[in-house]
Amino acid sequence: MSWDVWGHEWAEALLKKHIAGGLTRHAYLFTGAPGIGRRTLALAFIKALYCQDPPEPGEFCGSCRNCKQLSKLQHTDLFIGQSAGQGETLKIDTVREIQHNLNMQPYAAPWRTALFLRFEEANINAQNALLKTLEEPTPLSKLMLTASNENALLPTISSRCEVIRLRPMALNELADRLESSRMMLRSDALRLAHMSAGRPGYALRLADDPDEADRIVSIASDGVELLSADTLQRFAYAAAFKDVKKRPVLREILQVWQSLFRDLLLLSASGQEADPPISFLELKDELEKLAAKGDPEVFRKTLSEINRMITYLNANANLQLLAENLLLNLPNL
Ligand SMILES: [Zn+2]
Repeated sequence: MSWDVWGHEWAEALLKKHIAGGLTRHAYLFTGAPGIGRRTLALAFIKALYCQDPPEPGEFCGSCRNCKQLSKLQHTDLFIGQSAGQGETLKIDTVREIQHNLNMQPYAAPWRTALFLRFEEANINAQNALLKTLEEPTPLSKLMLTASNENALLPTISSRCEVIRLRPMALNELADRLESSRMMLRSDALRLAHMSAGRPGYALRLADDPDEADRIVSIASDGVELLSADTLQRFAYAAAFKDVKKRPVLREILQVWQSLFRDLLLLSASGQEADPPISFLELKDELEKLAAKGDPEVFRKTLSEINRMITYLNANANLQLLAENLLLNLPNL
């Protein structure tokens, strides 16, 4: 495989077949968890579509003008649309502006391409606006969307796209790639493979920034400590979220705790499985002790509570109230 995309070999083969056979569709939707490689795969596909000197059909050279500009995300025929940041809303103006550009003739490539990232963040007006492009495509344009899953979009959108559903890599396989490409120790590679839950993009980000991995583990450790903290300590932790600017901080904590409670659920439900695919390998001993004290049902409930909180957070709820409510409902272990 020459696109240098980690995992997703079947998807790479399928997209190359589309190019080689002259069968590319007007619109593609890449779905999967953040960090799984949706954007990376879409960009490799666009390179293969735009390359001026492909070594063979469906491949790209990496050194022509189009390939180089795409690597820098600065191609005159590529338009990227996304919200201001994760958890924000993608608005109709962004869609309209890109639609306007899509209607013009390509300058340097066979097509103009719009790449909308995290399209589940598009509000209903923005999604409806994009429908027009899907229903009446301009001939020299391509549309690529990424989203966490197709059910987060209007069914009329996903049904008009070729949906490429990306799945996590096997943890051992991801660790192998990290070990060989980044000269990592096996134990470090396994740590990141587990922490990323098999998402290669996220694992590579952590490999490039070791402090970031440590920071995430310390958020998980705080979560572990809060499980045995009293009400007063829990209120004190929640008080830090008075300020609305802390919304991204709370979102990140909740996302780390999702992984933490998934680990506890897995350990409490799996018994003595030799190598359970938990996220936080270095907290394994502590987590096993906690899992033995708790009940899978309690962990499952906490996890769905956290999921609900993330939804509320996106709907602009009062941060401190949310945090208090969650912390007081955490199990006492
Ligand atoms: Zn090229």
